[in-house]
Amino acid sequence: VSFFGDDSDIFQELNKKADAYAASLDMEYEWIPQLPFSKDSVIQELKKSDAGIIDIEPYDEDIFSKIEDRAKILVRFGVGFDKVDLETASKHGIAIARTTGANTTAVAEMALTLMLACKRLIIKGQKCVMTGNWVKDVGHEIINGTVGIIGFGVIGRRLAKLLSGFDCRIVVYDPYPNLNLIQELGVELLPLDELLQISDAISIHVPLLKETTNMIGRNELKLMKESAVLVNTSRGGIVDENALYEALSNGVIAGAGFDVFAIEPLPLDSPLLKLENVILTPHVSSQTVESLWNIYKMAIDIVYDFYHK
Ligand code: NAD
Repeated sequence: VSFFGDDSDIFQELNKKADAYAASLDMEYEWIPQLPFSKDSVIQELKKSDAGIIDIEPYDEDIFSKIEDRAKILVRFGVGFDKVDLETASKHGIAIARTTGANTTAVAEMALTLMLACKRLIIKGQKCVMTGNWVKDVGHEIINGTVGIIGFGVIGRRLAKLLSGFDCRIVVYDPYPNLNLIQELGVELLPLDELLQISDAISIHVPLLKETTNMIGRNELKLMKESAVLVNTSRGGIVDENALYEALSNGVIAGAGFDVFAIEPLPLDSPLLKLENVILTPHVSSQTVESLWNIYKMAIDIVYDFYHK
């Protein structure tokens, strides 16, 4: 049973394809779009299913305790585990998996898109054209600049590969670095403070954990160059949004491209909405047809392997 997606044509199509793929593996597949999220319907469906493909909503004791007699594995539609209580799932004998790698390209492409769009003032330019205000603002190139990547897992590394054609210096911060991959990709591992000080654009790719909550706050933003831009496609809560607003409105940094927010949907009274130098998107980094299909397929494969290997 899958709980991801809305009723749009694209999800209807993808779920038809997922249904056919599951049938080819002798599995029965059912799609229950979860907008809005309903704990009761999740519980009712998972009580009748061996597995669930789950969205980004909270999965906790309340759910696990009621489904443990039947559903033995839940697969996150995506990578973030921040709203799934892993310890409690394990106490109830429920395995939790995620589709690591399936949306890597989509998120890395989005990070690069936001970075370039911030550097070249794309949204501001579009507003100018649409309002008949033909102003030619001056942006910056990434070529020959320094790009900082915070969190060098699969998405951070894919971004480094995409950036390799830009001839820029790539510096990374990750407290659990894979030194072979760092060497292979020709990037430099630096302490966070140093990365913040020298980068012209910074992209964040860390999970939301206790130690990454508000890891970029007022002090970290102050270390950044005035001309630098900050991109976050990982999770809301990693950057302190009040500090970000201050930094963007006081010229501490030049711009920001954010796909994720501490509260989603971003409340309409968020001060970030008043700014000209931000690009804000509604948590859509992995929303490409290619990535969504990769996720469905990987999730179904994970369930198949769980029961057959
Ligand atoms: P990953 O597990 O491969 O990589 C995460 C990296 O972060 C690891 O290398 C880890 O060592 C590093 N890390 C852990 N703690 C850190 C810290 N305190 N400081 C710096 N680095 C730290 O995960 P991934 O697939 O690269 O995804 C990264 C994050 O992107 C996910 O956790 C998820 O929250 C987010 N994401 C968002 C979307 C979206 O739609 N916006 C889609 C996919 C993933």
